[in-house]
Amino acid sequence: MTTKRLPAIFVSHGSPTLPLERGPAVDFLRGLGGTLGRPAAILIVSAHWDTARPAVSAAEKPETIHDFYGFPRELYQLRYPAPGAPQLAKRVVALLAENGMETDIDPERGFDHGAWTPLYHMYPDAGVPATQLSIQWQEGPAHHVRLGEALRPLRDEGVLVLATGGATHNLRELGFHRGDIVPQRWTVEFNEWLADAVLARRTDDLVGYRDKAPFAVRNHPTDEHLIPLFVALGAGDADGTTKRLHSSIASGVISMDAYAFH
Ligand code: ZN
Repeated sequence: MTTKRLPAIFVSHGSPTLPLERGPAVDFLRGLGGTLGRPAAILIVSAHWDTARPAVSAAEKPETIHDFYGFPRELYQLRYPAPGAPQLAKRVVALLAENGMETDIDPERGFDHGAWTPLYHMYPDAGVPATQLSIQWQEGPAHHVRLGEALRPLRDEGVLVLATGGATHNLRELGFHRGDIVPQRWTVEFNEWLADAVLARRTDDLVGYRDKAPFAVRNHPTDEHLIPLFVALGAGDADGTTKRLHSSIASGVISMDAYAFH
């Protein structure tokens, strides 16, 4: 079990079929658990749990939620039986309270696919206790940077803050480009702008990305999938460094990029 200060991580989780896939993004995720070591617990911030104000799950045995439709049957048979982390949930409530944010405790909520599909590859034995903190999509990027800042002490407590969403996420365009090998130019331009801004920690530019980045709205018609990145950004040190851990584009338009915020 690791005791060193952990980075906060952002991963793109791509399609719900991630557990069944092979390729560079999966190879990356399979290696990531080993690179990070074994945290005491994982706090997941997924694009797929959105509430009006912060909520954290205190479930002892979180269920695996199959929150998607029309995918192969074998996907619905997969489970990610990691133990819950009710003590971590309490700690999260306390940290957010110290920062003026009230948090609801959900006694039951399990792992949505934004949470369990990357963990399925990162920690296949499902042995690390984990829980989820919700996003408040309507509150926008700056709110989520503050949320991340409040969580920063967890990185010294053996907790992996794992934000999971998508560096780009336009499902309508995915419908046009499914299976494409060559990335779309407008996806690459946005993806590289994002990488430059993240690596240089240009927080103001990132918070204002919808006005500043090329093709921002085309890549994020709604931006719940980018919102978790702001939590990881906030959880990194104020003067910290960022690493681009992985970059690939699936089906022409879905960036699978991942970052570590130290
Ligand atoms: Zn998703």
